[in-house]
Amino acid sequence: MSPLAAVGDLDGLVFDNAFVRDLPGDPNPEPTRRQVHGACYSRVMPTPVAAPKLIAWSPEVAASLGLSAETMRSDAFAAVFGGNRLVAGMQPYAACYGGHQFGNWAGQLGDGRAITLGETIDIDGRRQELQLKGAGPTPYSRTADGRAVLRSSIREFLCSEAMHHLGVPTTRALSLVATGETVVRDMFYDGNARPEQGAIVCRVAPSFIRFGNFEILAARGDTALLRRLVEFTIRRDFAGIDGDADTRMARWFETVCRRTAVMVAHWLRVGFVHGVMNTDNMSILGLTIDYGPYGWIDDFDPGWTPNTTDAAGRRYRFGQQAQIAQWNLVQLANALVSLFSSTAPLAAGLECFVETLEAEQSAMTAAKLGFTSCRDTDGTLVGDLYRLMQDAEVDMTIFFRGLAEVDLASPSLEPLREAFYTADKLAASGPAFERWLAAYAGRALDDGTAPADRRARMNAANPRFVLRNYLAQQAIDLAEQGDASLIAELLDVLRHPYDDQPGRDRFAERRPDWARNRAGCSMLSCSS
Ligand code: AMP
Ligand code: MG
Repeated sequence: MSPLAAVGDLDGLVFDNAFVRDLPGDPNPEPTRRQVHGACYSRVMPTPVAAPKLIAWSPEVAASLGLSAETMRSDAFAAVFGGNRLVAGMQPYAACYGGHQFGNWAGQLGDGRAITLGETIDIDGRRQELQLKGAGPTPYSRTADGRAVLRSSIREFLCSEAMHHLGVPTTRALSLVATGETVVRDMFYDGNARPEQGAIVCRVAPSFIRFGNFEILAARGDTALLRRLVEFTIRRDFAGIDGDADTRMARWFETVCRRTAVMVAHWLRVGFVHGVMNTDNMSILGLTIDYGPYGWIDDFDPGWTPNTTDAAGRRYRFGQQAQIAQWNLVQLANALVSLFSSTAPLAAGLECFVETLEAEQSAMTAAKLGFTSCRDTDGTLVGDLYRLMQDAEVDMTIFFRGLAEVDLASPSLEPLREAFYTADKLAASGPAFERWLAAYAGRALDDGTAPADRRARMNAANPRFVLRNYLAQQAIDLAEQGDASLIAELLDVLRHPYDDQPGRDRFAERRPDWARNRAGCSMLSCSS
């Protein structure tokens, strides 16, 4: 693969590849699958594809990288971000990490199909890693092919951008490129493998380091390299953390715990279920990362998991995500313990997780309900609401949006009717909801907020538009027929999720009946 001749703005991308410069790499240059010791990464080239073609791109991410629309639409862009060419300065590599999967230590995992091209500096001077997902095998591919299918790539592309615009910490997506090749997948692991279209997403984040990058070094007893990776991470990715080595590490761990809590509180606010919160899918920056069998809450159900692999234990269900995040932080703490002279700073970090989560959830609950802040006495009101919502299977997004329209002077169920999936449930729970609304209205009036301010506060916390599972599936169905228009339209709708956007009501509707039990709409497999 030869570096590309100057191509417009692409050639203007500036790289500063700190990870490969400052950390030890695997001396073996072969792409063969193997265990990699004493190294944080392996250098590996993307495997070229037959016919790279740009399907979608994020205008905000492109602009932040200084890439014009013309560049994005050029053949050169598709060639580079389809893995067929490099721009001068790119130094591709796959990272070595391990992880706890579904509660068990899984050993070495690593970037099995993700290849970082390099660390570029964006127009605001911030470091951004450009990483291709689905760019071919690496030493960490184990038995798999290193590729990604179009459907899962569309889901990652759309959801990471949607999450950003919702104000949820997340990795971003620059581009979605079709490879012109097929990939064989057995979507439900039932012996029905079939060829699917392949694609590559370019993900963008200041760092793709995961909890698992530290865990693998600890598991192998490589304390010296573990310390190096921690110091590197603090230096590169956590500007502002200073003090002596012990103080820095303590503050860093606490920051990781705090950011993880903030991230999860946002997930609960917007109704996002990650689906595979394994420790290799936990970003050290507290960003939502690795969009696989994730899902969005339609009818409110804390017990729901979108992931078919998780169906039996429902470990990663909506309502358990905070506990799992905490469990994952405990695994990170275990991995780091050899670097600390006492466990007190690790315990303090974990305590910070609990406190931050409480404070964030309290603030977000208040915002969702339109209160200035939650009071100690609000527990019953809030608990009753979530119980009612679950019993009546109301649509979470539509309900909270409708709640802002309730007239506190004469509260009625009228603005909330749309949130009910069935007339039976509405009839059965209507009186209980009316009693709840009366109590809510009293509490909200007591807050003394002007009606317009209350509505504005609620509508800034309760999105009107989220990437409903069935909408993503519709975009996928069309794209598989060669029509990417719904991807573009959804991306555009989701750029302003808190605005009413008249004329786009169809994207705010309840999940239709046909989607209730359809694959891709209510259950997702890890096969991607
Ligand atoms: P995930 O569950 O998607 O986070 O993936 C867990 C591990 O499997 C990671 O190390 C991935 O890189 C790897 N992996 C998943 N899919 C593939 C694939 N198609 N080819 C190679 N490695 C993969
Ligand atoms: Mg992963």
